Amino acid sequence: MSEIITIANQKGGVGKTTTAVNLAASLAVAEKRVLLLDIDPQANATTGLGFKRSDYEFNIYHVLTGLVGIEQEFSEQNRDYKTILKNKLATIRDSYDYIIIDSPPTLGILTINALTASDSVIIPIQCEFYAMEGLAQIFNTVKVIKETINPKLTIKGFLPTMYSAQNNLSKETVADLKKHFSNKLFKTQNCEDGFVIIPRNVKLAESPSFGKPVILYDIKSSGSQAYQNLAHSIMG
Ligand code: ATP
Ligand code: MG
Repeated sequence: MSEIITIANQKGGVGKTTTAVNLAASLAVAEKRVLLLDIDPQANATTGLGFKRSDYEFNIYHVLTGLVGIEQEFSEQNRDYKTILKNKLATIRDSYDYIIIDSPPTLGILTINALTASDSVIIPIQCEFYAMEGLAQIFNTVKVIKETINPKLTIKGFLPTMYSAQNNLSKETVADLKKHFSNKLFKTQNCEDGFVIIPRNVKLAESPSFGKPVILYDIKSSGSQAYQNLAHSIMG
């Protein structure tokens, strides 16, 4: 059985794409069959893995719209507009162990399609001031989708990202998460306090410009190790 996981947070720049790319790569290195789906029009996951958009005639837009235009397919008149991605993935999901979806920094129709198609969602939380702000919005979206169209949807976990030990705000964010949501943090035996925390690590920021996930760019870096811990936590 495959598992479909969306990486979502309507806040921009919190590490969604970095997480999608490096989680997918870490699962693949562990010999899982993985599909990484880039539904963000910014296409950062695509370009960050070295693919040039202009080299491809078709993209996820064509998968979602079929032959009709996006306005028709995604209009409220189309009763099924939230389940387009789910229905498309139904035909291929058995070919994979994990399907990881990178979503845009909005809770619009694309993210709603992703959450409707998914078993669970990972919410990256940047370790900074205002980190928790806006979480209510994504919670609410998940709740509504769960209650209406996708009852099995769960929050797989919160992932603290860009943590730096020298920064007090970073430490406070993680302390808050541990206090209120410790059951929703990813667990690992590979670090002292037992939780998966993604450090601020320059290798994670550099690797997309080489078209590589960090595990192929610098496997020993702290960023690479942290995303491998996340993958192992998810594989159980
Ligand atoms: P958007 O909302 O625009 O899609 P995003 O949530 O996908 O953004 P990313 O693109 O993953 O966020 O990260 C934002 C920026 O921060 C990128 O330049 C990325 O390389 C950098 N970055 C992400 N995580 C880390 C990290 N742990 N350490 C250092 N840099 C990071
Ligand atoms: Mg992104």
